[in-house]
Formats: sequence, C-alpha cells, structure tokens
Amino acid sequence: MQEIKKILSSKQNIVITTHVNPDGDAIGSSIALLNFLIKQGHNTSIIVPNDYPDFLKWMKNDELIINFSNSKKEAQDKIDNSSLIFCLDFNNLSRINELGDHIAKSKSKKILIDHHLEPSEFYDFKIHDVNASATAELIYDFLVELDSSLIDKDISEAIYTGILTDTGSFKFSMSSKVHQIVADLMDRGININFINNKIYDSNSLDKLKLIGYALSEKLEVTSNGNAAYIVLSRKDLLDHNFKKGDTEGLVNYALSITNVNMAVLIIETKERIKFSFRSIGKFSVNEFAKKYFNGGGHKNAAGGSLEDKLSVALEKFLKHISKYSIDLNY
Ligand code: 5GP
Ligand code: MN
Repeated sequence: MQEIKKILSSKQNIVITTHVNPDGDAIGSSIALLNFLIKQGHNTSIIVPNDYPDFLKWMKNDELIINFSNSKKEAQDKIDNSSLIFCLDFNNLSRINELGDHIAKSKSKKILIDHHLEPSEFYDFKIHDVNASATAELIYDFLVELDSSLIDKDISEAIYTGILTDTGSFKFSMSSKVHQIVADLMDRGININFINNKIYDSNSLDKLKLIGYALSEKLEVTSNGNAAYIVLSRKDLLDHNFKKGDTEGLVNYALSITNVNMAVLIIETKERIKFSFRSIGKFSVNEFAKKYFNGGGHKNAAGGSLEDKLSVALEKFLKHISKYSIDLNY
C-alpha cells in the first residue's frame, strides 16, 4: 500500500481493465476507481474486453469506457502510454481474452484487485481477498485507505452497484462489514431506490419472455434430483431478440428448486458453449469448472466454456455431474 501511495502521489497515465462479459461488479469497481483517480488528477481510462449490458450504462463517466473489441487501436495506444494498469475482478489474463496479450506485454506496473480463487502471478501488486463479497468491497477499502474524503456520491453509487450485484442483492453475503459499507455509502448520498430500479427494474419484454420460455420449456433436473440445468441454443436466443445481460440471474431459478444443490445454465454463443455454474453449500463449482470446463471462479459461482456442439457439451456435463451424485446429496 505504501508503494502504491508513493506511485499515486505523482500524476500517472492509468489504464483500468476488467473481465470479459463485464458484470455489475466489474463495471461498478472500474467506474468507482476511474472517478476517484480522475479526482486525484491522473489521466485514467477503462478498457473492457467486450460490451456489457445496458442496465449498467448509467454510472458517471460510463461514456469514457473503451470497448477493446471495437476500438483496438485506441485501447492499444492507452496501454502503450500507460505507467500503471489496474486489473479488477479477474484472476488470470486469459479472462480478458486478446486484451490480455497486450497487458502481458506492457511494461507498466500492474495492480490486481480481486476476490476470485487462486490468482495467477501476472501482477506487481496484489489486493486480494477471496472472502470479499465483491471486488467493489476491496475497492471501497482501497479508496478509504487512499483518501476517504474523495469518495463522493458518484463513486459511492458505483461501489454499491458492484456489491449489490455480486451478492445477489445481499443474499450471498454473510458479513456485517458489507452492510456497514452500504451504510457509509448511504451517508455519502447514494439513492438506493434509484440504483435498484436501474439494475432490476429495467427489463425488456423480450428478456422476461426468454426467462419464461427457459423455465417452462428448458429447465431440467437430473435423475437423482440434486442438479438442475437449462440449455439455450443460438436459435432460442435469436427467437427472443437476445441482448447481453438477458440471461443474468436465470441460473438462480434452477438452483432454487428444493434439494437442488448445483445448477448450470448452458448457452450456445457464436464462438463456443458457455457454462454458468452455481451451487449451495459444500460442492465447489470452482473445482468442477476447472476440472472439466476450462473455467473457474468462486466456490459457489463459477463459469467455463467448451468448443463443442451444444449436444456434446450437454452430454459432457451430464456425464461429469453424475460422478458427484453422492456428493450433491446433502
Ligand atoms: P457467471 O456465471 O456469472 O458468468 O460467472 C460466475 C463467476 O465465475 C464469476 O465470478 C466469473 O468471474 C467466473 N467465471 C465465469 N466464466 C468464467 C470462465 O470461463 N473462466 C473463469 N476462470 N472464471 C469464470
Ligand atoms: Mn466480482
């Protein structure tokens, strides 16, 4: 922390980056840090690997975010001219796809701020805690340590968004600290109703119809009743005018079935088959995703992918999960 403070005591060219398919924690953490560093007088940019859902596009200075997938030259220039790179909410450069190659080549000092398991060592400094409810919680601690007086309403809103979304609206967080942080953010002026509305009450009709279709036509439970899965093909998505973020939270419905302790959403994207795993209690979807699906994440929430046909990917999931039917019986 002392070394980071020393670096930040003079004006820097800073790049903030976060994981592919950025979620509320990725964007909230990045925007909070961006606005803080701008207030400290640094030249600061955010580069994301690809686009993110519309319900996250309202935080202060959102329009400054550079999308690597359609602004490669601009992103490359920012990285080339940077002296410092923050890597938020991911534990491995593979999580930012092609952007990771550019970051790996850069001579800039790299600061990892993250709460995923087992980060690989690509950084110079690390602020890492797997017990943090969200990377935004670590950002809060970091900014308080740097200069609490600079945390204004806009920065507080972005931090709150990260915590709100990564804790599933405070469902997955057991810590009193999270609630103390939120109390402090409220004292700094955030409007909880406004943010909750932006995040959760901005659904399109298409999104709700897709959820309805997925639950009525595509939700299945394995034969022993401990695991549930939803498979959505490219056609299912196109039929419902799918937009980024439309399937966010869908897997949690599958997990909410009585006696189901693990659930997966399997989606056919243009490039590959994407898995979104969730579990309750002792079964580690991080281990499961790492072992069979080129993925990882947290013990109870992880993701992965395969370059297979959808039917093959589903077969593989069913085969592997059947080995754990006893472990899932609790
Ligand atoms: P989601 O299912 O919401 O996409 O992701 C759940 C968690 O797993 C998130 O913390 C996310 O960062 C992580 N995750 C998702 N996909 C992958 C992946 O392909 N690889 C790894 N290592 N982590 C992932
Ligand atoms: Mn996170």
